[in-house]
Amino acid sequence: ALRKLVAGNWKMHGLSADLAEAKAIAEQSKDYPGVDVALCVPSILIERAARALPDFTIGAQDVHHAEKGAHTGCISVQMLHDAGASLTIVGHSERREAQRESDEEVKSKATAALSCGLAVILCVGESLEVRERGAAVETVVGQLDGSLPHVLSSETELAIAYEPIWAIGTGKIPTVDEIAEMHSAIRQRLRERFGADGDQVRILYGGSVKASNAVEIFAIADVDGALVGGASLKATDFIPIVAAAA
Ligand code: 13P
Repeated sequence: ALRKLVAGNWKMHGLSADLAEAKAIAEQSKDYPGVDVALCVPSILIERAARALPDFTIGAQDVHHAEKGAHTGCISVQMLHDAGASLTIVGHSERREAQRESDEEVKSKATAALSCGLAVILCVGESLEVRERGAAVETVVGQLDGSLPHVLSSETELAIAYEPIWAIGTGKIPTVDEIAEMHSAIRQRLRERFGADGDQVRILYGGSVKASNAVEIFAIADVDGALVGGASLKATDFIPIVAAAA
């Protein structure tokens, strides 16, 4: 099995005072050296978090694909790097939806980040409507086909996060069999695309992960970690999830 990655996605939560929680998470994560732990904080907190926690992985939640230019409000890979981030999420469903990001755009973001030495967590996931009409696997595999970079980077890492949209922030999670089926389909596609290297890509599950369901989720084949939203804001909620991955 691959080493597990437990990444927190703070979304639009967190002011400078909340860096105390990030510090507590970084400190307490040291008790689980077998698990990779990261926090993806709002971009404006990245530099302060990275400075305060030099030995801990701080990530971004999005990035622009271009090197620089007339893109008001956007942030480049180089800027994230400069601020101290070593990872970025791309293609989160909240951005695919609210910012209308296409697979093509997600792919250029992933490609730009990987080529510049930032690790990437690329998100995919189906809506409830798609799940109910039995098209979840083909939809997610289609998203992968549209948004995976052409090549894996030898310098840094790509991970996939499977996040069913209907499970995000709802307290609902797919059954163990549904997660297993999806992760196995993702693994198969990664192998088809990248050969044996596809086996090294970690596949995270995201959507209502909590201490109470983490052990069961981490026991599923091809679940190599989690992308955690709400439960990553406080060390008391997040660290038990890290412990479940150990
Ligand atoms: P929740 O853990 O709050 O359901 O959010 C999941 C998510 O979207 C992480 O990126």
